Amino acid sequence: MDETWRLVGGHIWTGTGRETVRGEVSVSDGTIVAAGDTGEGEPIDVSGCTVIPGLIEAHAHLCFNGESGWRAVYDSDTPGRMLLRMADAGRRMVEAGITTVRDLGAPTALALEARAAFRDGLAKGPDLLVSGAPITTTGGHCHFMGGEADGEIELRRAVRERVKAGCDWIKVMATGGNMTPRTNPLRAQYTVDELRAVVSEAHRLRRPVAAHCHGTEGIRNAVEAGVDTIEHCSFAGEAGVEQDEETIARIAERGIVISPTISAGYRLWPDDGRREQRRALSRALVRHGCAMVMSTDCGIPNVPHDALAEGMEVAQELTGLSPGDVLALATSRAAALLGMDNRGTIEEGKRADLVVVAGDPAADLSALRRVRMVFRSGERVV
Ligand SMILES: [Zn+2]
Repeated sequence: MDETWRLVGGHIWTGTGRETVRGEVSVSDGTIVAAGDTGEGEPIDVSGCTVIPGLIEAHAHLCFNGESGWRAVYDSDTPGRMLLRMADAGRRMVEAGITTVRDLGAPTALALEARAAFRDGLAKGPDLLVSGAPITTTGGHCHFMGGEADGEIELRRAVRERVKAGCDWIKVMATGGNMTPRTNPLRAQYTVDELRAVVSEAHRLRRPVAAHCHGTEGIRNAVEAGVDTIEHCSFAGEAGVEQDEETIARIAERGIVISPTISAGYRLWPDDGRREQRRALSRALVRHGCAMVMSTDCGIPNVPHDALAEGMEVAQELTGLSPGDVLALATSRAAALLGMDNRGTIEEGKRADLVVVAGDPAADLSALRRVRMVFRSGERVV
C-alpha cells in the first residue's frame, strides 16, 4: 500500500479528549501527519467506523497459552516451539487492535527473539516491550522462567544481565503468586532493601521497574522501594481483599502506576463476596486518584491473548469509569504513564498505530470487538 494515505468518511477518537467526533486521519511514512484530511495520498473509506489509537496491553505473557493446562504445555515446550506459540499469540493480539504489548514474563532469550521478529516483520505482531525472565527468589513465583536471584548482590547482577541483554523493563516478583505452588501470594518475597537494590540499579541504567504484588506486605515494600508500576495490586489477604487505604493513598502520593490486571476471567469468579471486594478496591483506587493503565495478564488461565476488549468492559464495570476513560487507560494514559511519548493518541508526529472499529467505543466499549482495520507504524496488518 501507498506510504501516504488517509482514513476518511468516519469518526475519530483522538485520545486527547474523551469525545468521538467526525474526522479524518492522514498518514505518511508510518507517522500521523494530521488529525485531519491533508488531501494527499490514497483515501480509505471508514464510514460507519471510528478510528482510535492502537491499544496498549500493559501486562501480557505471550509464552503462556491462556488455558488451565498451561504449565504442562510450558514445561514440555522446546524453545523453538515456545517461540512459535509466542508468535501466534502476537498475531492474535495485533489482529485484535493491540499494537503495543508489555510482556512481563517469558524466558529472556525468547522474549527478545519475539520482539525482534515482530519489529522486522518476520512475524506479524505488536510492538513488544519485554522484561525477560522476572526476577524472583529461589523457588519463588515463576522461578521456572529462569530468573532466580537472592540478596542484594545477585539482584543487582540480575538487573545488569537484563539490561545487557536488551530488556526494556525490569520485572520483580515482590510477592508469591497463585500460579506457582509452594509460594505464598499473601507474603513478601523480598525486603524493602532488596527491592531498593533492584530499583536503584534499574534506574541507574534507565530502566523502569514493574513489581508483581498481591499481598499488602509486598505492595508496601514495593511502594517504599519506589518501583514504577505495581502489577495486580490485589491487596490479597486471608479473608479476601484487605483494602489498605493508607497504602493506596501512598501509591497515589508517590505517583506509582497501577496495572490492575483486569480480565473477563473475573466473571468466572464465584459470587462469594470477592467480586464485590474487587469492585470496592477498584473504586478506591480511582477515588484516591491513583495513576492507572489497562492490563489483563493475558496468557494465564481463562485469559486469551486477544481479549483486552472484554477486559476493558469488566474494567468499566469495576471502576465505574466512563467508556472513554477506560479507552484512555489502554491508549493515551498507558503511553504517557509507561514512558512512550511517540504513541497513544492521534496527533501530528505520533506513530501511525491506528485501529478502525465499527461503532463508537467511547460510547460503548463492545465496539472494540468489531475491529475492521489495524495499522502498526503505518503498515496495515488487518
Ligand atoms: Zn503476569
